[in-house]
Amino acid sequence: MKFPAVSLLLFVVLATACDRTEAPEAPESTAETLDTQLARLSSYAPVEVDMQLRQVSAHTWYVQGAAGVATDNAGFISNAGAVITDEGIVVFDALGTPSLAALFVRKLRAVTNRPIRKVIVSHYHADHIYGLQVFEEMGAEIIAPAGAMAYIDSEVAAARLEERQFSLDPWVNEQTRIVRPDRLLREPETFHLGGVEFVVSLLGSAHSDGDLTLYIPQDDVLFSGDVIFEGRVPYVGDANTRNWLAVLRRMEKQTLKALIPGHGPAAGDPSRAISLTRRYIEKLRSEMGRAAREMEPFDEAYAAADWSEFAHLPAFDLANRRNAYQVYLAMEAEAAEGE
Ligand SMILES: [Zn+2]
Repeated sequence: MKFPAVSLLLFVVLATACDRTEAPEAPESTAETLDTQLARLSSYAPVEVDMQLRQVSAHTWYVQGAAGVATDNAGFISNAGAVITDEGIVVFDALGTPSLAALFVRKLRAVTNRPIRKVIVSHYHADHIYGLQVFEEMGAEIIAPAGAMAYIDSEVAAARLEERQFSLDPWVNEQTRIVRPDRLLREPETFHLGGVEFVVSLLGSAHSDGDLTLYIPQDDVLFSGDVIFEGRVPYVGDANTRNWLAVLRRMEKQTLKALIPGHGPAAGDPSRAISLTRRYIEKLRSEMGRAAREMEPFDEAYAAADWSEFAHLPAFDLANRRNAYQVYLAMEAEAAEGE
């Protein structure tokens, strides 16, 4: 008699799911909740950075981190977004320290008292996730691409956190945790909140083990995470550049009013930003792919390549050689696969 038990379980799961999306909570947080929330924010070490909450469209806002390496600017080197609706806020990415996330919440509170309902995480990399615990404590549902689990349970993640507890002290400290998502996405998802439609696309492993983007059709705005960089050289890191390139080629066909990337300013000319990132990834793959196939040593191939199209971009000196090397190794593996 397994069937009734399963049905009951299914009912409970569905009821819980419905609860979450349709609970008739007051659109405005009560004063008491807000006070409690704001008090909790002050338990995080204060951080003094220039953080401006900018409005991009009717519903979309973001804060922009500075260009630089992970520990520059008190760790404020990535962006976070917010979609503000009548029934609450959906946050996109959580910044690189809990202190930064707390500051971001304060900025949002200067604009609206509505509750933060969800946080959608573009991908699990340190510079986008250490602020998650702030939103978790506020009761927001945390949603991430399924690939996040590969990062969460990895030694790389543990080592990175330990390193940041040192390099970003006191903003990342013993209390900083890698928050597990409440929900993992294995399929693209569309939902509504406060009359706004949210379209979450899964890109598979592109820039990381799992990347997603959030599109707001009403405003024609895309939160792209780290798969598109505006006006700077991206960090390729552990990216699967083959998938990434395919994703970029698909995106190039889309017309958008604005694109809010994971790093750098919102792009007023999204197709330019998409095509710049696409051309850069293409360049890495073609130069390093040729070298790998011809078994040319990396240093020679790197020196011989013409990088002039990208050499003037911010972060070029920091990122390009490392990116090229990572892609060289990947292309060697791809060449071996093809044999
Ligand atoms: Zn990033």
